Amino acid sequence: MTSSQTSQNLSFVLEGIHKVKFEDRPVPELKNPHDVLINVKYTGICGSDVHYWEHGSIGNFVVKEPMVLGHESAGVITQVGSAVTSLKVGDRVAMEPGICCRRCPPCKSGKYNLCENMEFAATPPFDGTLAKYYVLPEDFCYKLPESMSLQEGALMEPLSVAVHIVRQARVSPGQSVVVFGAGPVGLLCCAVAKAFGATKVVVVDIQQSRLDFAKEYVTPLTFVPGKVAATENAERMRQEHGLGVGADVAIDASGAEPSVHTGIHVLRNGGTYVQGGMGRSEIQFPIMAACSKELTLRGSFRYGSGDYKLAVELVSTGRVNVKKLITGTVKFEEAESAFKDVKQGKGIKTLIAGIDV
Ligand SMILES: [Zn+2]
Ligand SMILES: [Zn+2]
Repeated sequence: MTSSQTSQNLSFVLEGIHKVKFEDRPVPELKNPHDVLINVKYTGICGSDVHYWEHGSIGNFVVKEPMVLGHESAGVITQVGSAVTSLKVGDRVAMEPGICCRRCPPCKSGKYNLCENMEFAATPPFDGTLAKYYVLPEDFCYKLPESMSLQEGALMEPLSVAVHIVRQARVSPGQSVVVFGAGPVGLLCCAVAKAFGATKVVVVDIQQSRLDFAKEYVTPLTFVPGKVAATENAERMRQEHGLGVGADVAIDASGAEPSVHTGIHVLRNGGTYVQGGMGRSEIQFPIMAACSKELTLRGSFRYGSGDYKLAVELVSTGRVNVKKLITGTVKFEEAESAFKDVKQGKGIKTLIAGIDV
């Protein structure tokens, strides 16, 4: 028996920039009768986890106290609170890792992802899910159908991000959609846009290897921007991919300034632009084109009402494949090596296995 298995609640903790440790913490208690205790089985690594590991902060969120990393997880219920009715011990669930207050104006208006008092996993000061156990309210757990694996369950987090973005874009049947960034979220945006009925999906990236993967995975239409003005790239994309006067929808899942520019310029008059990627907090912006084309511009942040539910249904009904995105799994004890792989751009999605009870 290894030490990790005999641990109470071994956790992968970020102490400072590039400083991580394994710490055996107490098993978290159920604080509310609606809470459940979950034995975490798989956790994906996200750009934000790597960013905290590398820089110790994202925008205003600064890691001041040691914090457990990870927020893309699935696991098995090991304990349920006295008021829990929807789950039982042994159920396999995808874990939605942000708990809203349910009382503030955004929560009460139905947009709980914009909660003023959000407690989100691995966003300081809240601990993440890279631990043996994690506690969530029952309604933030989504039971996986028999046909879905726990590995696929861990991918419900980035898929929910993509579902939210595509919903923000109001993608409808027959539309053309351009997605900037062929990382996990960009690829999933392409897949969800197709599931929503988009008939033409173009994916843009500066790395040919990522586009080769995208071709296999989701769409034959790819585009490598040249080192020219955004208007020129937009014009070439319209011609090469038959976008006519412009695309109906542009989604940025890269956070790169040139993508934002090309996204605005590739849209038709009256098109919709959604910002999903997070890059530099301030950029130059082609505001005149946005104004004169009367574009609809929307942000997208995490996921809200119904997004996780739809993510599970898209996979269980075969409309979106997340298995193909899983390019490696490492043991819990090797968590740090997985961060290094992601940093170096190895593979698409690396999962960290949990610690069995
Ligand atoms: Zn994430
Ligand atoms: Zn709230």
